[in-house]
Amino acid sequence: GKGAAMVTAVAYRLATQHAERQRILDTLRLSHEQLLEVKKRMGDEMVRGLSKQHHKQASVRMLPSYVRSTPDGTEHGDFLALDLGGTNFRVLLVRVRSGKRRSVEMHNKIYGIPQETMQGTGEELFDHIVYCIADFLEYMGMKGASLPLGFTFSFPCHQTKLDQGILLKWTKGFRASGCEGEDVVMLLKDAIHRREVREFDLDVVAVVNDTVGTMMTCGYEDPRCEVGLIVGTGTNACYMEEMQNVEMVEGDEGRMCVNMEWGAFGDHGELDDVCTEFDRIVDDCSNNPGKQRYEKMISGMYLGEIVRNVLLEFTAKGLLFRGKLSERLKTRGIFETKFLSQIESDRLALRQVRSILQHLGLTSSTCDDSILVKEVCSVVARRAAQLCGAGLAAVVDKIRLNRKLEHLRITVGVDGTLYKLHPHFSGIMKETVRALSPQCEVTFLQSEDGSGKGAALITAVACRIRH
Ligand code: BGC
Ligand code: MG
Repeated sequence: GKGAAMVTAVAYRLATQHAERQRILDTLRLSHEQLLEVKKRMGDEMVRGLSKQHHKQASVRMLPSYVRSTPDGTEHGDFLALDLGGTNFRVLLVRVRSGKRRSVEMHNKIYGIPQETMQGTGEELFDHIVYCIADFLEYMGMKGASLPLGFTFSFPCHQTKLDQGILLKWTKGFRASGCEGEDVVMLLKDAIHRREVREFDLDVVAVVNDTVGTMMTCGYEDPRCEVGLIVGTGTNACYMEEMQNVEMVEGDEGRMCVNMEWGAFGDHGELDDVCTEFDRIVDDCSNNPGKQRYEKMISGMYLGEIVRNVLLEFTAKGLLFRGKLSERLKTRGIFETKFLSQIESDRLALRQVRSILQHLGLTSSTCDDSILVKEVCSVVARRAAQLCGAGLAAVVDKIRLNRKLEHLRITVGVDGTLYKLHPHFSGIMKETVRALSPQCEVTFLQSEDGSGKGAALITAVACRIRH
């Protein structure tokens, strides 16, 4: 009768809506073949980035770090370290002991960097940094001390030696003017000279990328650690490459750590066929359109924005929130890494998902809405972890082939908020590496305070050689 016809109509509408949602989500799902292709392209870009001839055209910069060896336990002394470019800006005092009492002891203080300072002038930014160092020295009762300093500066830098780093391009939320093309050590020194009272001077020994610091920190515990990985606000990796292949640096002996700057993979179209309309919107609305395309599909600063844009599309199509677009949902940056991690937590009941959504001002949500939001988060995070795994698979396989090995055992030192907080990211990433590089046996070592400690260790190694 009529009732049955209505039931059929409703069932039909629900089925079409379901199909429509899945069609959209499918654009965010990657096959094994696609991931293999990503791995292959990453491998190709690595080779191009290393070569003298093609370096300029490569999207992955493969920047020499001038770090040639991992710590051997004989380094010691007191060091200062700065850590700029992650979730927090920190100043650290690091005590490294050698011998039987071999250990690393750290004191640090976190300082906020106001949005205006990140996006103001370079002078303001570096004045603020120097102000924080002065405050820290005073806080530690070390006013006037001049310790060797390692500067973890987590942005792409061109280096021709350890104690110099020319900023190539800001990434993540930074865009302070007048810094690109400048040596960050000089920017720091200039800021010290601008101070009225010259209470201290700095002996900057090393400029270090956070990936390199992380690799060094983990290498202190595990000598097999020859790769560093960050999946936090941004993403990047470094690894020990044969000097012979590092064509941008003279010499063929031994190895050097190369800061890949893999976040820029895709900037020459290498990811166009796996990108979705959502990725293009997130890129267009970012600080740096067209840049860091791989990073924008993987790291914490962008995943929430991808999710939000998918939800916007669903709502506009009447597939979510009863088709009602709230002001809240139109607001950039509402989904932080923390949210992505919470919402996918297995212990979380749907009721709690709903309360998270309500907390975000998305009040009109139903139970079905909660299920869908959670599914979107999960699809976006899975793709990020798989893409990251595909990149890493290229790295470990390159190391294996460099050493002409059938089988490679290697450790990857990892840090970053997304990797550490997200309940599924690391598992999916590992699974992907295993599937794409079956000849490598990869162990992951999570670093505690990797980047700051690592900068101090690198400084310690440099001082050991210098003295
Ligand atoms: C930067 C890298 C850094 C990574 C992780 C990227 O945006 O370009 O230098 O290692 O973020 O912090
Ligand atoms: Mg960091």
